[in-house]
Amino acid sequence: MLDTVIIGGSSAGLSAALILGRSLRNVVVLDDQKPCNRFTHASHGFLTQDGTAPAQLLQTARDQLAPYATVTLKSATAVTITATAHGFTVLDASGQAHDARTVLLATGLHDALPALEGIEPLWGKSVFHCPYCDGYEVCGKAVAVYGTDEAAMHLLLLMRNLTPALTLVTGGLWQPTPEQREKIASLGIRLAETPVSRLESTDSQIQAIRFADGSTLACDALFIRPKTSHRTPFAHDLGCQMNVHQVVQVDLRGRTSVAGVYAAGDLSSPIRSVAIAVAQGAAAGYGINADLVEQGIIGDMAPSAEGR
Ligand SMILES: Cc1cc2nc3c(=O)[nH]c(=O)nc-3n(C[C@H](O)[C@H](O)[C@H](O)COP(=O)(O)OP(=O)(O)OC[C@H]3O[C@@H](n4cnc5c(N)ncnc54)[C@H](O)[C@@H]3O)c2cc1C
Repeated sequence: MLDTVIIGGSSAGLSAALILGRSLRNVVVLDDQKPCNRFTHASHGFLTQDGTAPAQLLQTARDQLAPYATVTLKSATAVTITATAHGFTVLDASGQAHDARTVLLATGLHDALPALEGIEPLWGKSVFHCPYCDGYEVCGKAVAVYGTDEAAMHLLLLMRNLTPALTLVTGGLWQPTPEQREKIASLGIRLAETPVSRLESTDSQIQAIRFADGSTLACDALFIRPKTSHRTPFAHDLGCQMNVHQVVQVDLRGRTSVAGVYAAGDLSSPIRSVAIAVAQGAAAGYGINADLVEQGIIGDMAPSAEGR
């Protein structure tokens, strides 16, 4: 019997694995290697690792987990989680069943990009969602924000903080209120309300937005608000309570509303950031170990059959 199955081996899941490995907990991490930031070349804003490639960050994490004999990393997709008398059984796509006292969901979010022709190859390279992740690199440059509802106003203001050469592109899908128009104008932000035809680019670098009337807007970057959804249905299926942000409600130790089920990272955070995912993963590691010691389940110097 494992102490924990961690589903998702990216920033949150591996951070939890490190704390649990250091607590002599038998852990299996199942990961199918599709972190949400895999489209970008450089991850910014994580202290000591600013500008590091996401894949390198995770490789360093895996390397540093290697000495922990009770932690096993498995490249696999978790397909089902079933509650049992002693905890949970997680079945992976290879058919292997993992029995554990607890389960940590660190499966992240899926980003659905807006339906703009030409956007896919640009995502994470010159089309971004997060000013804190990618805004500094386009400071002072020509930037467009694609906003199809009023939630875009906040993104617009954050980007105006970084560049005066800013255009709000609505595609005609959203009509800002008179107050919003006044604010947009007072900040020197241009407004383009013509439907968008496509994004024009060279080698993943956006060059311009072409509108349905044939006109173009040259830009160095486009910021969007992708629609997010949970990568897996596990949290819903297990009955975990969600919060107003439609992410899993957790306490400061990663505990969900379901005993034995923990969550960390984008799946349970209103802020998407590697630093916050790492912090949440560590906190969930503390929570899992704390709850196990309270139950009198002590750490194991020898790995279980699933350990190395
Ligand atoms: C394009 C882009 C750029 C970003 N840039 C930055 C940046 O510069 N700085 C920054 O701080 N943040 C950045 N972020 C945000 C950051 O990437 C996330 O906050 C962080 O990756 C969240 O970590 P996580 O572990 O919760 O989820 P993820 O990193 O998304 O990892 C989830 C993991 O779970 C695995 N998984 C999912 N379902 C299953 C399953 N059923 N079985 C097995 N494995 C599964 C996935 O394969 C994946 O490896 C960016 C995000 C995006 C989308």
